[in-house]
Amino acid sequence: MRRAGPLRLTPTPVFRFAPSPNGELHLGHALSALTGFQMARAAGGRFLVRIEDIDPQRTREAFVRQIFEDLAWLGLHWEEPVMRQSDRFAVYGSAADALRARGLLYPCFATRREIEEAVAARPGGVDPDGAPLYPGLSKGMTPEDVAARSARGDPYCLRIDMGRAVDEVRAILGGAALDFTELGGDGAMRRVVADPARWGDAIIVRKDTPASYHLAVVVDDAAQGVTHVTRGQDLFAATDLHRLLQVLLGLPAPLYHHHPLLLDGEGRKLSKSARDTSLRQLREAGVNREGVLEMAGIDPDHFAHN
Ligand code: GLU
Repeated sequence: MRRAGPLRLTPTPVFRFAPSPNGELHLGHALSALTGFQMARAAGGRFLVRIEDIDPQRTREAFVRQIFEDLAWLGLHWEEPVMRQSDRFAVYGSAADALRARGLLYPCFATRREIEEAVAARPGGVDPDGAPLYPGLSKGMTPEDVAARSARGDPYCLRIDMGRAVDEVRAILGGAALDFTELGGDGAMRRVVADPARWGDAIIVRKDTPASYHLAVVVDDAAQGVTHVTRGQDLFAATDLHRLLQVLLGLPAPLYHHHPLLLDGEGRKLSKSARDTSLRQLREAGVNREGVLEMAGIDPDHFAHN
């Protein structure tokens, strides 16, 4: 008789760390990566790294190499091959085409300056990141106008028609609320009702690159079978938009865990732009791995073996 292995009632959980190679990893990234890795290990799950390099202006190969070096130094290991979003523009294009064919995306030719002027003339609301909501320029252009302007080579992005998208999601869900499950640090599950409308007509395909963070992240989490999205609290509100896109594209809903952000001495979020101490700098200054774990608020004793 064959001996039964450990009982698995659900498919193997899949976790990921998805850095953008636009700068060096800092302590906040270390916390994200370690949280995902640790949770994957505790759940007997898989751990993936995904390189989110859709931004042609800011991506540097040296940063990609350094991400792998830093993560290995932290003691993490991950599955190969690593997915790179710059290889997947065709896939994002198909997803965007599908949404556009349903009238859920529209081209927007407005320049940053035109948008700023329109907002200054008629201030409206702001999105959860504090940016003014798109004031609706370019909305309702005729197909002929769109064709003429794109024939002229005018650049455009694709925005979601939020009103239509919310209506369509409501119809798909049969009136049930759009929601997601947030796993707390203590493992408790909490239902969060999503309100994507607070993002307004968000950009789904950028002008400068044929994707956006929001589109690429939902397409790839689904393509990689990610069951648990672990990331910083700064992306909590964006989850509303991600859930909207997942329902529109017929993609499964992962569980989410948004960990608290590390703050600097003045209570500001650590970020690359604020020139925080990068993992490379810390390492070069002689801080060891345990020191970094401690600085990231992770108990090194819980992270002794890998
Ligand atoms: N690439 C994103 C970043 O570096 C994170 C994406 C995610 O975890 O959903 O901020």
